[in-house]
Amino acid sequence: MALLIFIIIGLIVSVILLSPLIIKQRRKRLKRHTFPPLWNSIIENNLLIYSRLSPAERRRLQGHIQVFLTEKQFIGCQGLQVTEEMKLTIAGISCLLLLNERGEYFPKLRSILIYPGAYFVNEIVANGNYVVEERRVARLGESWTKDQVVLSWEQVQQDTQNWSDGHNVVLHEFAHQLDQEDGKAEGVPILQRKSDYLTWARVMTEEYHQLCNDVQQGIKTVMDGYGATNPAEFFAVATETFFEKPQELLKKHPALYELLQRYYQLDPVQWV
Ligand SMILES: [Zn+2]
Repeated sequence: MALLIFIIIGLIVSVILLSPLIIKQRRKRLKRHTFPPLWNSIIENNLLIYSRLSPAERRRLQGHIQVFLTEKQFIGCQGLQVTEEMKLTIAGISCLLLLNERGEYFPKLRSILIYPGAYFVNEIVANGNYVVEERRVARLGESWTKDQVVLSWEQVQQDTQNWSDGHNVVLHEFAHQLDQEDGKAEGVPILQRKSDYLTWARVMTEEYHQLCNDVQQGIKTVMDGYGATNPAEFFAVATETFFEKPQELLKKHPALYELLQRYYQLDPVQWV
């Protein structure tokens, strides 16, 4: 009996120890799969930055897309039929955030819910007179700490046609996923070294306060004013700006650009 228990415990321990290795091997195999030409043309059409990537970067992105499509589930809402185009567009944009092997594949995320357009949710809000009321509000996208990202396909399409206006719902919601990887949505994703957290806090706090001040005083800003909502939104909006308006961000906010450049291990200015 004791021997049997010993064997079972041994098996459980080896499965736990081996599973990251098995996942790694499976991902390696997936990345070697040929990238279908049809997929390539969809990405070319819907990810304007794709043609500016170096051949090595393009191959890396294709590998990430293969992994992403295998590991994540796409669910159409309100009768929406999920197409290859939808999956590839969302996978392509979100995997840009992981391009240089800088992290896991949004480990908490299991499914992506796609609505045809803006969708409505009931939101509990407290008004000024200690009265709580329920309101119906329209949403274009959101990232849940649980395991889901919700997107409006109409908004995704609109953003893919306007790469460089600093707005991209996919970049925004997946930046929230990175932020929420440690279980908290506070504008601080998991960083490589302990010392990185100090630099992160210093630069982000300074830049966040500057945006809040500029928005309050009506000064024109590179980043969308929505970033002044709270530090988590600031990180998501800064990510959109970093990928879509890198030159302006580098010129006006070099410290913030450099911080994001180090975090994403990318230099989007080179793609302009
Ligand atoms: Zn947000």
